[in-house]
Formats: sequence, C-alpha cells, structure tokens
Amino acid sequence: MSDSIETFDFQTEARQLLDLMIHSVYSNKEIFLRELISNSSDALDKRRFLAVTDPEAIPAGTELQIFIEADAEARTLSVSDNGIGMSREEVTDLIGTIARSGTRQFLDALQAREDALTPDLIGQFGVGFYSCFMVADKVTLVTRRVGEEQAVKWESAGEGTYTLQQAERPEAGTTVTLHLKPADTEEHIEDYTSEWVIKRLVKKYSDFVAYPIRMNCEHRSPELDDEGKPKPDGEDVVTVELETLNSMKAIWLRDPSEVEEDEYKEFYKHISHDWGEPLERIQAKIEGTLEYRMLLFIPTKAPFDLFSRDNIHGIHLYVRRVFIMDDCKVLLPEYLRFMRGVVDSEDLSLNISREMLQQDRQIQRIRKGVVNKVLDTLAKMRDERREQYTTFWREFGRVLKEGVFQDRDNQAALLDLLLLESTGSPDALTSLKEYADRMPEGQDVIYYMTGESRAMVEHSPHLEAFGDRGHEVLLLTDPVDEVWLQSVFEYGGKPLKSVGKGAVDLAPEEDKEAAEEERKEVEEKFASLFECLQHKLDDHVKEVRLSNRLTSSLACLVGEEHDMSPQLVQMMRAMNQDVPVTKRILELNPTHPVLARLHEIFEADHDDDALDQYAQLLYGLAVLAEGGQLPDPGAFSKLVADLSTKAI
Ligand code: ADP
Repeated sequence: MSDSIETFDFQTEARQLLDLMIHSVYSNKEIFLRELISNSSDALDKRRFLAVTDPEAIPAGTELQIFIEADAEARTLSVSDNGIGMSREEVTDLIGTIARSGTRQFLDALQAREDALTPDLIGQFGVGFYSCFMVADKVTLVTRRVGEEQAVKWESAGEGTYTLQQAERPEAGTTVTLHLKPADTEEHIEDYTSEWVIKRLVKKYSDFVAYPIRMNCEHRSPELDDEGKPKPDGEDVVTVELETLNSMKAIWLRDPSEVEEDEYKEFYKHISHDWGEPLERIQAKIEGTLEYRMLLFIPTKAPFDLFSRDNIHGIHLYVRRVFIMDDCKVLLPEYLRFMRGVVDSEDLSLNISREMLQQDRQIQRIRKGVVNKVLDTLAKMRDERREQYTTFWREFGRVLKEGVFQDRDNQAALLDLLLLESTGSPDALTSLKEYADRMPEGQDVIYYMTGESRAMVEHSPHLEAFGDRGHEVLLLTDPVDEVWLQSVFEYGGKPLKSVGKGAVDLAPEEDKEAAEEERKEVEEKFASLFECLQHKLDDHVKEVRLSNRLTSSLACLVGEEHDMSPQLVQMMRAMNQDVPVTKRILELNPTHPVLARLHEIFEADHDDDALDQYAQLLYGLAVLAEGGQLPDPGAFSKLVADLSTKAI
C-alpha cells in the first residue's frame, strides 16, 4: 500500500446522504454521539466474538472499552474504541459507500418531503456514522483491524470526496475525531467539548452499553489551608480523573419497575439502528429447565428493506450476558423478521456457531417460546388496543400473513391475527372472528374475493348477488393472500369460499324448491343457445351456464372450486413457473335483456352470424369485468363499435 494521500469520490448515494446531513435542519443533532458509541460497541462485540474461537484476538491485559476525549481549544471531540477495527478495504466498503438496498427509495422519499430530514424517515434507514457531519465540518477516522499491523486514516469534509492514507495506531480499534462546527443554538449545535454535555449525552443515550465509556474528567476543589479549610482567596485546584460515564447494566436484567420508559426507548434505538420509537415492548423471563430472558420490540414503522433479501433480522443473541451475534435468524421465523431485541440464554454454550445454532434443540425451544410470546402480545394488542394494532397491521400485516402458510403450528393463532378488508366494514378492517360473528342466519360459508385492488374487487360482477342478499365478502388484495388461501380451507368450522369459483346457491332455505324449479325451466330454455355459444368459445371456456351470482351484469368468468384464481396464475407466471392453461366457465345472467335478444336471434336462425359476434362480446365483457387481459383487444374494440352501430 502506498503511504501517500489518495483521494476518492463518494458513491452517489453516499454523497446525497452526506449532503442531507450537512444541511440538516434536524434539531436533535446530539444523537451523533449515540451513533458513534453504538458503532464502537458493535465493533467491541465483534472483537469479543472473534476471541471466542481465537483467543489471540484479545491479548492478555486488553480491556475492551470506549474512550472519549474532548479538546475545547482545538474544538475536537474523539471517540475511540479497541474493537475489531477495519481494514483499508472495509473502510472503503463500509464508510465510502452505502451498500444497503433501499437507499434509492429512501432518498426519493426524503426528496418528496418538504420537511426533509425528519427522525422517522432517517430512522427507517439509520444513517449511523454519517450523522456526525451534522455537527462536524471535518471528520477523521483512524482504524486498525485486529490481526493487521498497519492502520489506515480516512478523512473527509463531507463534500464529495474523502482521502485515505497509511497511519499508525498502537493497537487494534478505531478512533473517530470530529472537527466540530461552532456551537450555535439556532442550529441546535451545543458545545460538545463540554464535559457536562458529554456526560449528559452518554447517560441519556448509552447508559446500558456493555463496555465502559471513559473520559478524563476535571475535578475542581478549593485550595485548602493548613487546617484543611478553603482559603478565602485561593485558586481552585484542578485534578484529572478517569471516569466511567455509563452504568453498563444490561437493561434486560434490570427489574422493569426500576427502568424508565426512556431508557428502554434508547436501548431500542441502540440495537435496532432505528431513530424512531418502538410501538411495543415485550419482556419476559423464562425459568425452569431452560432459562432465558427476552427483551423485544415491535418497531412503529416498517424499514424500507422489509421485503428485500438482505433485510437483517434484528434479534441479538447473548449467552450469560456475553454478546454472541446479531442478526440471529434462527430465533425467529421469517414472518417475524421485523422484530428487534435481545435474547439472553443461561444454558447455551458460549462457543456456539451459526451452523450449530440451526440444530440446537435448546435454541428451537427458545424460538418456540419467543414466537408464542410475540403472538400472544399481538393478540392482546388486537383485543385491548385496536387502534395500535391497526397501526401495527398496516406496517407489518403483509409479513405476518406469510406465517399463515409458513407456520402450520401457529396457523390458528395467526388466522386470528389477520385484519382484512370487507364489504361489511367499508372504513375499518375486520378480523375473521368479527366477520363470522356478523354472519346472518342461513349463511354458513365465509366468502372472499381476491384481486388487484379494493375497487376492482368490490365492483366485480361476481359480488352482485352477495351484496343483494346481505352477505359480506372479504376483499383480499395482497398478492400474499393468494398464497395463504392455498393452505386454509375453513375458519371456526366455516368453509372459506371464493365468490369467483364454483357454483353458488344463495336462495333462502324456504324458497329453495321453487328457485330450483324456476331455474330448471330457464336452463331448458337456454340449453341449446348455451351449447352453441360454448361451441363458438371453445378455445376460451369449457362451459357456458346460467349464473346465480349475477343480478345486473351480463356475464362473468368463474373457476371450478379447486382451480387457481387468475391472479395466482398471473403471479406464478411472473415468477417463471409453468402453469397449465385451465379453461374457465362463462356464466350468463338470464334476466339480462341482451340474453333475451340473443335467444330470439338464435331461435330465428341457428346459424346467424351475429351469434359469433355476441359470443365474443360476452366473453370479452366477462374478462374486462374482472380486470383481466383480452386475448385480442383490437378485435374486441372493433366488435363493440360494430354492434353499437347496429343498435343505433
Ligand atoms: P450501521 O452502523 O447502521 O451499519 P454506519 O454508517 O454507522 O451504519 O456504519 C457503517 C459500518 O461501518 C458499520 O456497519 C461497521 O461495519 C463499520 N464501522 C463503523 N464504525 C465502526 C467502528 N468504530 N469500528 C469498526 N467498524 C465500524
């Protein structure tokens, strides 16, 4: 490596973020210190974890710690740690670029808002290290990776470029030095070289950090005379003492009655890298043959990358207070990946590796316990704090729905947690239980319809007869709905049925016989016409039949009971899966005047050309009504124009 100073450009996204930081009007600028301490604490965790398998990673006599140094005259503040440090490549990768997916959306979302840098938006992204540019006009970072001899110095004024050069550092770790902007109350910048300010910030944001955060503090005492009394005109005696500023108590071990709510919130921010507040806290201590504690949080906002592959899982695993790993995926199923927090086990081995975790029976039992606790908490929230639960649902409901098919053991509990749109509650979401409780006498089936959007589903002809009969229909418009519906066939003993599939019989019990007779008559009347239409539409449909669903529309397409819905077929094709073409059934409304007219034409001349055109028209209308794609839109449009001309 050359020892000259080399200059590099920040990656575009990184530059934009830096720019936002530098010009930030965000009032809570003091959190930069929390971010730096958090990074140091993570780096110390990593070094400690490394030492589990490689004791040389922490030489004898090394005490892991964070050290703060302020220089009021030079206007600098530095935060040092003897953590894992970074290699030159790591500095470039981690500090010069933003590798995380979702950065683009984050920046777009920021730009779309006038109030710019609000904590909730930043919180969803967590810009960590860059926040120091809110208070500093130059930042220097010197770091040396454990196991390497050479250190590297990174420096930037935040304006598009940074420099790298070789440096010396007596031991592994990282020092970040801020060249502070002048204190300015209007800009919400305090004097961060002041001992009192630093002490206050550490106490407020980082008290629970598991490593000592130390600083040399000045103590002034009056000059004393020979008798030990203060001299009236003496000068203060200044002594300097190394102080530990944080209590280091693992917050999950403390009695909840002695922990302030704010302390929990700060802890949440520390482990989640979320600047917003948690929606809910879940805490438990499990005793018995297996002992562990959990302190978990449900975030208020979903992060941008909730649906991206590299979304991290936010559970940190500790064994007897020793940090083992963050992103501990095995402790939670995929569908709870939004949870953040800590699990601390008394029984696991300190040497446990990621590979071993997967098979560990204790871990599996802890996971079960954690899942139960989370689901119980959500159920409680649903019952006791519906508004808060709805907030949760709107952010994370789509993820939770994945659980319905992923976690069969908890399927019943998960079904009870669903909140769905329904024709029966236009403004609010409904649970399946609430739907079932509202079912009128004589309805023994839960009806639903899937589709792309509420408007599309709500106005689809399939729903007509249900609305007229006062039957509520669940409107399911998330793509994931199609998936969980494949594994759920009933709720509370009542079958779930798509209004777009199979036959329906909505006639009340007492009218059934009469209805059946009437239907037979009509069926006989139209039998040969339908046969003729079916013949003409043989490429598209397997049957043409009378509809019990339609009351005002002319036609709709339905599937057999176990057919895939058109949305599911579309979804699977989009995922490059081979889905065989299944023809559907064309249902026609016998009370519609068009059908009567068609019957007349047919009776007059079985071979009338108009029958061809009408057959295509009926099919095309049915496809359009459910938001589907016409096989030949141009031909259809011409057909409608031709028929309209005739009508005029
Ligand atoms: P985040 O902490 O949210 O990942 P940051 O921008 O704060 O984002 O930091 C980016 C990365 O730089 C960190 O994930 C870490 O790998 C590395 N890093 C930052 N500070 C330190 C430090 N003091 N010691 C070692 N690595 C660090």
